[in-house]
Amino acid sequence: MGGGRGASVNAEVQYEPVIGLEIHVQLKTRTKMFCGCELSFGDPPNTHTCPRCLGLAGTLPVVNAQAVHYGIMIGLALGSQIAPRSQFHRKNYFYPDLPKGYQISQYDVPLCSGGQLGEVRIHRVHLEEDAAKLVHLGASGRIHGAQRSAVDFNRGGTPLAEIVTEPDLRSAEAAREWLSLLRTTLRAIGVSDVNMEEGSLRCDANVSVRPVGSSELGTKTELKNMNSFRFLAQGIRAEVERQSELLRAGQPVLQETLHFDPSSGRLTPLRSKEEAHDYRYFPEPDLVPLEATPEMIEAARAQLPELPSARAQRFAGALGLPAERARDLAFRSELADFFEAALAATPNGEPVALANWMQTLVERLEDGADPAGSLVSPAAFAQLVAMVSEKAISREAGREVLDMLVAQGGDPAAIVEREGLGAISADDGGLGDVVAAALASDPDAAEQVRAGNMKAMGPLVGYVMRETKGRADGAEINRLIRQQLGI
Ligand code: ADP
Ligand code: MG
Ligand code: ZN
Repeated sequence: MGGGRGASVNAEVQYEPVIGLEIHVQLKTRTKMFCGCELSFGDPPNTHTCPRCLGLAGTLPVVNAQAVHYGIMIGLALGSQIAPRSQFHRKNYFYPDLPKGYQISQYDVPLCSGGQLGEVRIHRVHLEEDAAKLVHLGASGRIHGAQRSAVDFNRGGTPLAEIVTEPDLRSAEAAREWLSLLRTTLRAIGVSDVNMEEGSLRCDANVSVRPVGSSELGTKTELKNMNSFRFLAQGIRAEVERQSELLRAGQPVLQETLHFDPSSGRLTPLRSKEEAHDYRYFPEPDLVPLEATPEMIEAARAQLPELPSARAQRFAGALGLPAERARDLAFRSELADFFEAALAATPNGEPVALANWMQTLVERLEDGADPAGSLVSPAAFAQLVAMVSEKAISREAGREVLDMLVAQGGDPAAIVEREGLGAISADDGGLGDVVAAALASDPDAAEQVRAGNMKAMGPLVGYVMRETKGRADGAEINRLIRQQLGI
């Protein structure tokens, strides 16, 4: 291992981060993994429990078929091999959030193995049950001065898929972006709410560093509790910095589990007692091996939509959108759906113009809102974009019309008519007069433009825009200014 070799002090060495992620995803099934209790979020504590998920003696687990179906869908979406027979194991540890004293998980034969998403290889995906939630009681919970905790078993037994990547990520930012791609993909296939704040998507990061150019892996640490995209990137950055400094000072990196405190930005080791894992895995004797039949795999495959990364490629390839714009749309399927509906509504629609206006629409809507739930119909949106492309209205007037569509809905052509927003062109004569007035009002700027300083165009165009209330086309104004200045 790279870190432990008591290397000499070397402040010159550049270190490269190596990161692998372990992601827990709560599956959006109706009931729990091994019993019939309904899933809940935010219900009063201990209202979704039964003898099975409370771990009472004499109860037997029954595998949730929907969770298996979702697990297979995840595996297929990530390009994994689905094991025809996988095995549940007991992972033993003693903690109040685990009433049976063990968690039913998968060990050496997981449901899904291998695969790849974006640039990152997938190691495995397995199914397991979630632990219950510990609630640390405040001052009111003290008895004889002692701090107490309560257990809410509602979450206990919730189906989880654990996704483990290979250590293929090379920066905090790349880790954050990749997790976002994973979330988008899981959301598109509909297996989870994937909400980090609510805990339905949880991510631990394994981090090591190594000298740039080395192909060996350094000693890793595991960062827990990174419950937002921002904290994930912050935590990794802080840990990469800490490890690099240790190695530069000739000190070893210790393999340990660290807790990230976002408020201080500090990483503190979990007490070794909490980390002394000897899970004594053994096959779950109350469950037969999990058989994923070809029929089950086909049924899962049939439910997969076009995946976001494939959609982004199609938007960039067939529709010619810039790669980043293609991803912005494809990675939010509600935006991609609206965009495609608008495109379908305009036989000669320009995908690039529509995509650009999608960005304006998103800015006008509430944060994260689905345009399908707004008053703007895809057809009206497409018509608006076409009117701008055909120069029937200026870009500025287009924005105004979009504001009105967002506020009241309606038909863009009717709004343009009603509000008198139709473009003023040179043919009307009027625009030429306004341009002449602009040149007269700012002879200084006019002279500079004539002398070749195109930056001086700004105030002249601004004058015309103000006078016409944004109804004139920018390129047209430009053309007229040049014409009247004789350049
Ligand atoms: P463990 O046995 O500690 O659970 P695994 O080999 O199962 O370790 O890997 C767990 C996670 O840690 C995976 O996501 C893997 O990609 C990542 N990982 C393994 N070795 C390293 C390393 N040297 N640096 C960074 N990440 C690593
Ligand atoms: Mg592990
Ligand atoms: Zn139950």
